[in-house]
Amino acid sequence: MTEQKTYARQIAIDGPAGAGKSTIAKLIASRLGYIYVDTGAMYRVVGMVALDRGISLEDEAALTKLAEELRIELSYNDGVCRVFCDGAEVTAEIRRPDVGQAASTASAFGGVRRALVAQQRRMAAEHCVVMDGRDIGTKVLPDAECKIYLTAALEVRAMRRFLELQAKGSTDTLEHVTSEMVIRDNRDMNRAESPLCKADDAVEFDNGELTIEETVAGILKLAEKK
Ligand code: C5P
Repeated sequence: MTEQKTYARQIAIDGPAGAGKSTIAKLIASRLGYIYVDTGAMYRVVGMVALDRGISLEDEAALTKLAEELRIELSYNDGVCRVFCDGAEVTAEIRRPDVGQAASTASAFGGVRRALVAQQRRMAAEHCVVMDGRDIGTKVLPDAECKIYLTAALEVRAMRRFLELQAKGSTDTLEHVTSEMVIRDNRDMNRAESPLCKADDAVEFDNGELTIEETVAGILKLAEKK
């Protein structure tokens, strides 16, 4: 008789930009039949709406109000993750590079984080989840049974992001993509509120020289309950 494998109910994946978190997290969620929660998308929605409404990215009170009041919904079906804000689809718009920077600035405020972390915890209380972000293992799901810190060398991460943007028609140079990534990672790692860092009990996983399938297989192995 073949042995039935069981897996951690909560899989937390953190790491810097371009580490491949969302690609890997989505595949793991669909293999295990878990829901995938892209927490970065939630911060991106707040950043995008702030830019669109001309709300200052220094105005903590206004940004917190947005994080508390916007109805952010994530849907994940047949490998496709879609993001909605107050009922309107924003899946593509939130991937704009200026939205990434706005998300990173807005996410440094404690009020914004508290509002979104509360929603993220509710999602994880109702389902088995694969959740990716910057503070999942340290703050959102500190009791997750499987925590991964996914990373790769800066050159590898920047090249991935560059190719992704090029495929969407961007003419941004590799140098510019790299410097924007460094700025965002430094801001995320050095902020006072829930900075990006590896949780003490997380496993660091460098996927710079691994294929997507090798990375998925490696993380599934770590998520298996012994
Ligand atoms: O993961 P993604 O690049 O889409 O995240 C956009 C930004 O949102 C990050 O640069 C980071 O500042 C913020 N973020 C965060 N905490 C999370 C997820 C994302 O602060 N859990």
